[in-house]
Amino acid sequence: TASKLTPPADGSKITITDGKLHVPANPIVPFIEGDGIGPDIWRASVRVLDAAVAKAYGGERKIHWMEILAGEKAFNETGSWLPDETVQACRDYLVSIKGPLTTPVGGGIRSLNVALRQQLDLYTCLRPVRWFKGVPSPVKKPEDVDMVIFRENCEDIYAGIEFAEGTPEATKFMALLQEHFPDRFKKIRFPETSGIGIKPVSREGTERLVRAAFKYAIDNDRRSVTLVHKGNIMKFTEGAFRDWGYGLAQNEFGAVDLDGGPWMTFKNPKTGKEIVVKDVIADAFLQQIMTRAKEYDVVATLNLNGDYISDALAAEVGGIGIAPGGNINYVTGHAVFEATHGTAPKYAGMDKVNPGSVILSGELLLRHLGWNEAADAIIGAMDKVIAAKTVTYDFARMMDGAKEVKCSEFGDALIAAM
Ligand code: NAD
Repeated sequence: TASKLTPPADGSKITITDGKLHVPANPIVPFIEGDGIGPDIWRASVRVLDAAVAKAYGGERKIHWMEILAGEKAFNETGSWLPDETVQACRDYLVSIKGPLTTPVGGGIRSLNVALRQQLDLYTCLRPVRWFKGVPSPVKKPEDVDMVIFRENCEDIYAGIEFAEGTPEATKFMALLQEHFPDRFKKIRFPETSGIGIKPVSREGTERLVRAAFKYAIDNDRRSVTLVHKGNIMKFTEGAFRDWGYGLAQNEFGAVDLDGGPWMTFKNPKTGKEIVVKDVIADAFLQQIMTRAKEYDVVATLNLNGDYISDALAAEVGGIGIAPGGNINYVTGHAVFEATHGTAPKYAGMDKVNPGSVILSGELLLRHLGWNEAADAIIGAMDKVIAAKTVTYDFARMMDGAKEVKCSEFGDALIAAM
């Protein structure tokens, strides 16, 4: 089928050489509007992103947005939930942004988000978590939360190697285990009625994720990188993640033991300041983000831990309505920034929900391009508008004296505050 994509005539491609992005002043950035509340949110967000760029650079820089299709809109127009040309555009143009997508029920494809991540090998799920003054929070000192989570995005239990209880596959697998690894087999309490899941965690997969976290800490002048794992129980997967992480700190970043180890420290080559590398068991971490959140800064962790941690932290600072995310391969330059919430179908088309999640995903995108001044304009405006209690319904219902505005009006307020 012929491509329905028409690249904006005045835009140019972002390219990459040796892991370094080259961003023209007129980059083409593909966007997926998203399903459900997606169109409402995108309409509000794109105006805010454009305004931030205009504010920061006058007319000298401008993003040329190019719509690509996925989800229901794609299915209705092309018969495919994720057309090949959409994936190809994300490949060709490197950096893109998307709203939430409906997960087709019963279709061949498990999740469009997962499909995009896998096809582009987006091995980092980046989730910055910080509090904006005035946002309703269930904890006493939400201002202590200022973390950037690097969640491994391709391995761990998410690799999907599973055998259902009672199936011929499970029986076959049990027989293999019994034959080749009788000592392990003996540890299974109820072999006849067990489902089985296998969790691969590789040295390569760990190192590229942890390397990205260290580089981020260097570039963004952060104080520490914490490896969060459950290595006391899963020694050769999660424990190895910790060991490989410390090894990488030593071998590639010149880290040395801190007070006899296992914590380490290395000098930030850009600022001369120390960056501490530490580790913590996941359960202790989940306690400490409630009691001593200040001690954590950049966090590198495995896929499943990262899932729990990002949502727990998002809840501490006001929930999913404003939690942004990025899925990034720092080697190839491919990145898809996205809202972390779903399509909230009951609010679709009502111009009601919080566009914060996509706006802040755009803020991450701008920072990824090195357009920090525009990104700062967005953060500054968010600070002002939320502190003035101009918020959408989700925050308004939990704040005293709030002025409830529509999705689009929240965007207007941000633009006015820049
Ligand atoms: P959801 O996130 O869509 O909605 C849960 C509730 O959260 C909503 O009812 C609403 O009260 C609130 N909410 C979500 N986004 C909000 C916003 N921007 N502002 C204010 N309130 C907001 O989760 P769900 O109902 O479990 O999933 C609905 C659909 O979304 C499903 O098809 C699911 O597969 C899909 N989904 C997609 C993604 C994604 O594309 N990244 C993520 C999760 C779920």
